Amino acid sequence: MSDFAQTVKQQADIVKVIGGYIRLRKAGAQNYSGLCPFHKEKSPSFSVHASRQFYHCFGCGESGDVFSFVSKIENLSFPEAVRTVAQKCGIPLPKREYNSPEEAAEASQRRKLLDLHEAATVFFEEQLRSPDGALAREYLTGRGVTPEAIKLFRIGYAPDNFNALRERLAPIADAETLRASGLFSSKDQEDQVGNIVQGRLYDRFRKRITFPIANESGKVIAFTARSIDSGDKAGPKYINSPETPLYSKGQVLFNLDKAKAPMRTMEFALLVEGQMDCISVFMRGIQNVIATSGTAFTEHQVALLRRQTTNVVVNFDPDAAGANAAEKSIALLTEEGFTIKVVTLDGGLDPDRFIRERGVEAYAAAIRSARRQSDYLIDRARQSFPGSSAEAKIKAMNYLLPHIRRIPQKLERDQFAHDAAQKLGIDSSVLRDELRQAALKRQDHIDSHVETRVGLGLSAFERFFIEAACNDHKSPDEYQELHDNLRRFDEKMRTEARIDWQHEVLRNLTAGLFEQLVARPKSQDVESTGVTEEQRVLLRKVFLEAGESIRTHEQDLEIVRDLEIQALRWTIAQKRRALDVTTSRNSPEAIQISQEILHLERKLRELECN
Ligand SMILES: [Zn+2]
Repeated sequence: MSDFAQTVKQQADIVKVIGGYIRLRKAGAQNYSGLCPFHKEKSPSFSVHASRQFYHCFGCGESGDVFSFVSKIENLSFPEAVRTVAQKCGIPLPKREYNSPEEAAEASQRRKLLDLHEAATVFFEEQLRSPDGALAREYLTGRGVTPEAIKLFRIGYAPDNFNALRERLAPIADAETLRASGLFSSKDQEDQVGNIVQGRLYDRFRKRITFPIANESGKVIAFTARSIDSGDKAGPKYINSPETPLYSKGQVLFNLDKAKAPMRTMEFALLVEGQMDCISVFMRGIQNVIATSGTAFTEHQVALLRRQTTNVVVNFDPDAAGANAAEKSIALLTEEGFTIKVVTLDGGLDPDRFIRERGVEAYAAAIRSARRQSDYLIDRARQSFPGSSAEAKIKAMNYLLPHIRRIPQKLERDQFAHDAAQKLGIDSSVLRDELRQAALKRQDHIDSHVETRVGLGLSAFERFFIEAACNDHKSPDEYQELHDNLRRFDEKMRTEARIDWQHEVLRNLTAGLFEQLVARPKSQDVESTGVTEEQRVLLRKVFLEAGESIRTHEQDLEIVRDLEIQALRWTIAQKRRALDVTTSRNSPEAIQISQEILHLERKLRELECN
C-alpha cells in the first residue's frame, strides 16, 4: 500500500464511508451492522468494526477494508478507490498512480467523459438562459418548474442546432472521446471502395430541454431530453443518452444522489415515474423521491435501492403504461423482499399535477394513506374483471395467483390469499384451495443464502490468543508482559512437545498466525497482521464475534497459565500414547519417553499449585 493510501486509511472513518452507501445501526461498543450490499438478505449479517476499520459479512463472506468496500461497490480499481475515499474525507490528492497502462487508460477515459458531461451541462444551462432558450423557459414555467429547481437539477436547453455542442466541446476533447460520450450522433457511410466509415458527428439533443442524469456521487453521466415541439416533426417526446462507458440505463436511479440521505432518515423511498414528477415532488420538500424514467425496475436498480431502504411507496401514472410498469416493478421488488405500498391519486392525476392543483399537504396525506400492495392488486383485479360471475372470479384469481406466489414470506402469502378470497367473494372450495396452494409454496427465486450467523467454532484459547495479542486497552507494560508470557509459552511448547502444538491445540488459527500475533507491535492494525487473506478474514470474524474484551490483566495472565496447563496435559497424553505403542517398556526409547512424562508431570503440578 502506498504512503498516500496509508494516510487515507488512517484518516478515513470506515463507519462514515460505508454509512454513506448503506444504512448502519450500532450493534455493539465498536460494531455496526446493516444489510449486506453484496448479497441478498433480509436480516443484517454485515458488520463494520469502528476501531479496527474493517467490514465483514457473515452471510456471503465479503470482507476487507475501506478501500476494498468502495472499490467493490463502485466497481473501481484500487487506486481509484483510494482517491474516492480521499475525496470523501477531504484529503488532498497526490499525482495519479495506477497499476497498469490499461487501468490508467480506462480511468483517464472515464475522467474525460465526466469532464465532457460537466462541460455539456454548463453549456445547456447557459443556453437555457440565452435568448434561444425563451421557448424552453416558457415551457418550464408553464409546468411550474421554479428557477430554484432549474438551478438545483441543472436543467438546460439544447439549441436547435446540429453543431453547437460539438463546436463547444471540440477544443477540450479528442474525436474518440466525443464519439464515446453519447452526446453526439453520426451516420456511418460507405466510402468509394465500399468500406463503412464513421460519419461526421452532430449534436444528438436538439431543441430539447435537458435533464442531467447523475450517478450516486452527483456527477453528470448522461442526459434525458424532452422535446418542446409538438406535432409530427418533433420526434419522440423524450430521448436519452445511449449506453456509454459511464452510463447504463438499467443501473441508474434518477435523483438517487440527492434522495439517498432523506431515504435513510425517512426509512422509505418514494418511487415515481418521470423526472418532472420527481423534481416537482422533491422541490416541495418530499426529498426521498426517485424516478425510474418510465421503465420497469432492473435487478441492478433494486440493489442500489436496497442499500438505502427496503420500504417503497410506489406512485406511478395511473394510465395503462404506468400501471404496467408499476406492476412489473412491484413484482420484482416483491421477489426481492421489499415492503411495498401503492399510492393512487384522486382524479387520475400524476404526482406533479396533483401537487400543483391540490398542494403538497394533500400529496403527503395521499402518501401516508398508501395501500398495501395486496389491497392495490386485489382492487386492480376487481376493476379488470368486474362482476360476480364465476368466470370473472376465476380470471381475477388467475391474475392474482402469480403475485401471491412471488412473496417470499409465508405469513404474508397467507394473508394475501385470505384477503383475495374475501374481497373477490370466492366461496367455491376448489378456488379457495388453489389460493391456499399458492400461499403454501413460493414459486420462484428462492433465496438459497443461509442468513444465520455461523459461529466460528474457535476454542476459547484461540479466541483469547487473538484478543490478547491485539488488545489495545492494556498499558504498554501489561501488553509487554502478556506477550512475553505468550512467547515463552510458545517456545516451551516447541522444545518440550516437539510436535506442532499450535496445529493441534489451536485448530483454527492457521499456521504461522500465532507467531505474528505475538510478535505484532501494538497499534498495528488487523489488516496487516494476517499474511494470507484467509488469516485476515479469520481475524475480522473473531473481532466481530468477540466484541471488546472486558477482562483484567490478571485474568489474562490467568488464562495464559490455564493454556499452559491444557497444553501440558495434551502433550503428556500424546507421550503416554507413544509409550503404549512401544514394543517393550524397557527399550531405551520407552525409558526416554517415561522420563519426559515424569518431567512434564512435575511441571504440570507446579503450574497447578501456583
Ligand atoms: Zn453479504
